[in-house]
Amino acid sequence: MDLKKILEYQTIDRRLYSEEVLLEKSTENQKREYYLKQSRDAHKQLTASDKDAEALFKDAVKLINDLEKVSKKRESLSVSKFSQDSQVNATQKELQAYSEEVQTADKECKRILKSLDEIEKGFPQLISRRAQNFKEHQKFDEEFKKKQGELTLKFKQDIEKLNALKAEIKPELFEKYKKLREQKKFPPFAPYENGSCICGIEVKIELGGKLNTAGDMAECPSCYRILFVK
Ligand SMILES: [Zn+2]
Repeated sequence: MDLKKILEYQTIDRRLYSEEVLLEKSTENQKREYYLKQSRDAHKQLTASDKDAEALFKDAVKLINDLEKVSKKRESLSVSKFSQDSQVNATQKELQAYSEEVQTADKECKRILKSLDEIEKGFPQLISRRAQNFKEHQKFDEEFKKKQGELTLKFKQDIEKLNALKAEIKPELFEKYKKLREQKKFPPFAPYENGSCICGIEVKIELGGKLNTAGDMAECPSCYRILFVK
């Protein structure tokens, strides 16, 4: 009984399914998805830039703290005329180290400013790319939805029949059908003929025992379609 109903369902659904596939392949849908992806990519890049800027600000704070320590150290370094030679040497070494630290800090400061500048310059471009692509997406999305609406209207009677039939089919069997349909395995229910499935695989050894009399059903181990005996 269930098999008969689901096959009836499948026959009506076939035309709707093929038009849905055509709609999916349509320019409207391809462009709609393309622009959505572009817009999302721009958004991802914006988020990444934001994080980079945050990390650079942290580096800047660290640099300021380091510089404060270095400058305090510098204040304590002095050579008076009463200093002994060893003290003079030690102080000179420390002054040398101080100068190196300042140079390193200067380099780090330049790096931070350069990176922040690049990020800042990139922001407006990314924001406009995100907006433009999203606008394009919306344009094609509207066209796609319009076509989708036309399809629903065209198949209005069929859809009503399908809904009525669905109510007569066991939910688990219908779920199986729906899942296979979503995976583009149409027809989800296929006749078992010559020991093979329509996906091309021979299933005689695995399923032969389960598929003997009319109405018997079994799942193909390769494509998961439901095979039935006519
Ligand atoms: Zn198969």
